[in-house]
Amino acid sequence: MGESRQIEQVVIIGSGPAGHTAAIYCARANLSPLLFEGFMAGGVAAGGQLTTTTEVENFPGFPTGIMGPELMDRMRAQAEHHGTRIQTETVERVDLSQRPFLVQTDSQTVYAQTLIIATGATARRMAIPGEEKLWQRGISACAVCDGALPLFRNQVLVVVGGGDTAIEEATHLAKFGSKVLLIHRRGELRASKAMQKRLANNPKVEVIWHSVVEEALGDSSLSAIRVRNVQTSEAQVIDCRGLFYAIGHVPNTSFLGGQLALDETGYILTKPGTTQTSVEGVFAAGDVQDKRWRQAITAAGTGCMAALEAEALLAGH
Ligand code: FAD
Ligand code: NDP
Repeated sequence: MGESRQIEQVVIIGSGPAGHTAAIYCARANLSPLLFEGFMAGGVAAGGQLTTTTEVENFPGFPTGIMGPELMDRMRAQAEHHGTRIQTETVERVDLSQRPFLVQTDSQTVYAQTLIIATGATARRMAIPGEEKLWQRGISACAVCDGALPLFRNQVLVVVGGGDTAIEEATHLAKFGSKVLLIHRRGELRASKAMQKRLANNPKVEVIWHSVVEEALGDSSLSAIRVRNVQTSEAQVIDCRGLFYAIGHVPNTSFLGGQLALDETGYILTKPGTTQTSVEGVFAAGDVQDKRWRQAITAAGTGCMAALEAEALLAGH
């Protein structure tokens, strides 16, 4: 006698704005979605990156802002309210070569006709002394999210990195800070020529070349950083109130075991204008397939798209 197994119409992996938005749409379409929210997956609590921040001021619907963890609690509650079944487990492995798809956690194996991958990305940190204590107390990995906060107004702000994000963040911060220092470990930027031009045209941003930040200083909030020139080995302490990391993100795609087409940095490739991946029936939403915008609202938007695409595919079948 064969083993009886339940086949889900849609399984959602991930619990940020993309995953929960996909769940709300799937649940309201009577697809009874099963969502794996993860257990400290990628080092982040269930609910995703917004659980690591304080005030979110740019998500529509909250005129005076909302705390990141509360926003994610509300999205989770809305997904559950409409009938999403949520399991606090991390997906360890998937098998996309068989139909239905196989999804495996530590304790169970489930089968799915369609899959929505919304596992997000994790901002790279530098792991310097002082970072843990001062994280979100002057140190941030998202200038677009945090730059407008009162504590950064008319202060010296520092951005680390030499890519497009670093320049985008430095020019964004120049609207708020008294001065922005861009600290880069080499003597040449990785950023595109267009972005480099934007930097050159901004008199408030100054580049400190060949340098690395070695330590973040401060008691209850950031007050200064220790910077070392890697060519001369000279160190200096720079007073500043903001330290923004723009040293890249790591998409949470290792559990896919190379079964989906990824770009050279590990992000899932989707067909432009859709959330379709290289395997029919597998959709990707949110930061796991977006290295450019990386906002809660864009993640939610693609979560909606993935749900509607999964629903259409299931209806077609
Ligand atoms: P994520 O939020 O990255 O969540 C995905 C989650 O899925 C993971 O964290 C994990 O819990 C779970 N997961 C991962 N792998 C697995 C697995 N294998 N199995 C099961 N579960 C898994 N954006 C804004 O719009 N406004 C802001 O103010 C803002 N502030 C930010 C502040 C900080 C400090 C950071 C880091 C980001 C901020 N962002 C902000 C960006 C925003 O958080 C992200 O763009 C958004 O959360 C991406 O959503 P997502 O659904 O793609 O996934
Ligand atoms: P990148 O990987 O392009 O750049 C990361 C930068 O951080 C590099 O300059 C790197 O230095 C530096 N870095 C990495 N690790 C460390 C470390 N431990 N200490 C100090 N510095 C470090 O990431 P981005 O987020 O900038 O860009 C990701 C992608 O998104 C790119 O393809 C980019 O083009 C795209 N993007 C496009 C935008 C646009 O067009 N408007 C805006 C934002 C992103 P090094 O150069 O020495 O390796």
